[in-house]
Amino acid sequence: MKVLKFGGTSVGSAERIKNVANLIVERGKNIIVLSAMSGTTNTLVEIADYLYKHNVDGAKETINVLEAKYVDTLKELFAGNDEAREKAATEVKACFNYIRSLTKDLFTVFEEKEILAQGELMSTAMMNVYLQSIGIKSVILPALDYVRTDKSGEPDTQYIRQKLSALLDKYATADVYITQGYICRNAYGEIDNLQRGGSDYSASLVGAAINAEEIEIWTDIDGMHNNDPRYVEGTDPVDELHFEEAAELAYFGAKILHPTCVLPAKLNNIPVRLLNTMCPTAKGTLIYNTTAPHGVKAVAAKDNIIAIKIKSGRMLLAYGFLRKVFEIFETYKTSIDMIATSEVGVSVTVDSEKNLDNILDDLKKFGTVTIDRDMVIICVVGDLEWRNKGIEAAALDALKDIPVRMISYGGSNYNISFLVSKDDKVRALNLLSEHLFKKAKKD
Ligand code: ADP
Ligand code: ASP
Ligand code: MG
Repeated sequence: MKVLKFGGTSVGSAERIKNVANLIVERGKNIIVLSAMSGTTNTLVEIADYLYKHNVDGAKETINVLEAKYVDTLKELFAGNDEAREKAATEVKACFNYIRSLTKDLFTVFEEKEILAQGELMSTAMMNVYLQSIGIKSVILPALDYVRTDKSGEPDTQYIRQKLSALLDKYATADVYITQGYICRNAYGEIDNLQRGGSDYSASLVGAAINAEEIEIWTDIDGMHNNDPRYVEGTDPVDELHFEEAAELAYFGAKILHPTCVLPAKLNNIPVRLLNTMCPTAKGTLIYNTTAPHGVKAVAAKDNIIAIKIKSGRMLLAYGFLRKVFEIFETYKTSIDMIATSEVGVSVTVDSEKNLDNILDDLKKFGTVTIDRDMVIICVVGDLEWRNKGIEAAALDALKDIPVRMISYGGSNYNISFLVSKDDKVRALNLLSEHLFKKAKKD
């Protein structure tokens, strides 16, 4: 059995839902993980924001607009089949009634999580009823019944495996299984989620739990491209990536894949394939534990980076200095992305303002601290084993007219990272494409 995950745009309209239903039917008995229809989770976030600000009218107006969109989608999806439309409409209505019930009382993070869960509950209900209406024995596997996180917020893989296996046994004769991405319960049984974009993670966790033959991530583009198609024209899909390469790209900004998706698949040796719902025959990208050797595969960029420099005369020959610096970041549960050291100082980057003031105050005990905001990490990914010559030189040559604040190389065999100002991001991405891919193609 495979796990097929369809993202928001893939189920973003009645027409898309029908297309995806065809793809699902053609592929047989698999577990289908669905995101909310595109735009829905953003709107649910907006509704929650209104409620945090006690703007109940704003929330209600937004709920009405969203509900009208769903009513239209249902009309189109079930045109000519009133019985199926009513069945799906009852389920969708129950979700909207539930959201409305949360506009009445105290609004906390618990209610917010319950609101955010409704998008995936609605998309799966609609797909399930649609598949049944075309004669498929489709069954919902409720994610809230088997996806659980532990007290540290990590997925409880043992629990997921056991519960999911029991559900699959219970519905052994189904033609296909539909489940919600993104949503889960926490260790206390409350509704929670796996963070924005987390449906990819759900697919990987489900794939690992059933030891799937493959995990397919279906989206709106034909695989992982060699640069960010939102900023660079003429990018090409990459045929194959190693798990490590895919992890670096996802972590450093390639939005097509959520960074958390890679690990469960890698640990269980399950291939991940990125495919395009709009062009199902396209080859896509295969992510596995082998890859074409040598050379750069792709470039990505991670925004909103803050660089922190700690300069200390006392660092000279001072063992233990780096440990003390790292301990401060550990105390505030803040992870470091890049690091560069010299005899008189160290520069690190973080991607969040959370606890930054406390971190800076503590760091000042060790020396002079300066920070640069609005930076971007540009990450060049591929088989960059250190004995391969010329790759660093080619990347540096591409960026020769761009001021570079930090460089990191040698941390793994898979990436070189450059820290540049946000104003130089698009130029840097384009220059790297020009030098690393387009030029190579011409030669
Ligand atoms: P879904 O809703 O299916 O999860 P996402 O919007 O999360 O889809 O991811 C797909 C988008 O990722 C593409 O439309 C594309 O704009 C963006 N993207 C960013 N970097 C890359 C890349 N290197 N390769 C492919 N797509 C990328
Ligand atoms: N619907 C959620 C989001 O928009 C999860 C996902 O699509 O992966 O973040
Ligand atoms: Mg996504």
